[in-house]
Amino acid sequence: MNELFLPQKAVNQNFKNFEDLGVFIDIKREDLLHKEVSGNKLRKLKYNLIEAQKQGHDTILTYGGAFSNHIAATAAAGKLLGLKTVGVIRGEELGKNQEHTLSNNSTLQLAQKNGMQFHFVSREAYRQKESKDFFNKMKAVFGSFYHIPEGGTNALAVKGTEEILSEFDKENYDLICVAAGTGGTAAGIINSASKHQKVIVFSALKGDFMKAEIEKYTSHKDFEVVNEDVFGGYAKSDDGLISYMNTRFRESVTQINPQGIPLEPIYTAKMLYGIEHKVKTGVIKGKTRILAIHTGGLQSIAGFNNVLEKKRRLKISYENYV
Ligand SMILES: *Cc1c(COP(=O)(O)O)cnc(C)c1O
Repeated sequence: MNELFLPQKAVNQNFKNFEDLGVFIDIKREDLLHKEVSGNKLRKLKYNLIEAQKQGHDTILTYGGAFSNHIAATAAAGKLLGLKTVGVIRGEELGKNQEHTLSNNSTLQLAQKNGMQFHFVSREAYRQKESKDFFNKMKAVFGSFYHIPEGGTNALAVKGTEEILSEFDKENYDLICVAAGTGGTAAGIINSASKHQKVIVFSALKGDFMKAEIEKYTSHKDFEVVNEDVFGGYAKSDDGLISYMNTRFRESVTQINPQGIPLEPIYTAKMLYGIEHKVKTGVIKGKTRILAIHTGGLQSIAGFNNVLEKKRRLKISYENYV
């Protein structure tokens, strides 16, 4: 098996304690599993890429937005395994001047360096991306391929995310917290958590569909979903969130951990902000040992900061982080 897939253990680090309440928040550093195939995206790709190779495919086709962690991870994993990768990217306008697009977008830039070919489509065509018509069109352009859905979630992906929690994690925490986009990572966590553990899922999206998405991949019922309505929806933020990220990062840089604990703004920072809010308001009770999953995605910070700069907003600043 490729070394990318060998059993990996992410370290747990202490993130924040509320000692007067007896609440301890540790964070599982899945972001450190691999430099480019980050966090939960590696977990979700694992059994899909093994299956693709077993079926004799040499090309992976998948989808995403222009800053997608899944696109970045798929390109990097493909390169490591000697698989060709095709990224169907939402936003026809981005394909008109690809050179210009890439010069402004570090996600796509790195994906291209890792050998990914792009196919830019309109938002309308993107909505039809799972149709037979679209598949045939893609086959005509790129030849036969193994298809991975948007965000990487399918049954094999969930099999991978069931490997996130270690035996130690299952024994030593009362509450597991995880962020969700498609819900595939959350489903794996819910499937593998112990009976005594509760799981809270922090959706990165607005709306109340996430629970149903997760239930496609789990029959367990003992989990709670918090929908993103604090910051206005997916990838939305305010200075309060950015300032929270900068503060917690500065606090996390210690002698024992000189690299600190960087979070990204779309999933992990909102989750931890939400956890702390629930602790302070007593929704999460005292004497709770919490494990929050750091699902990675730090590659998106550069693009996010570009947008913040254009809006003349407070930027994410991790001075010592390399
Ligand atoms: C993709 C992603 C998620 C969401 O994972 P799902 O399995 O789609 O719910 C969470 N955190 C980060 C950092 C991600 O990149």
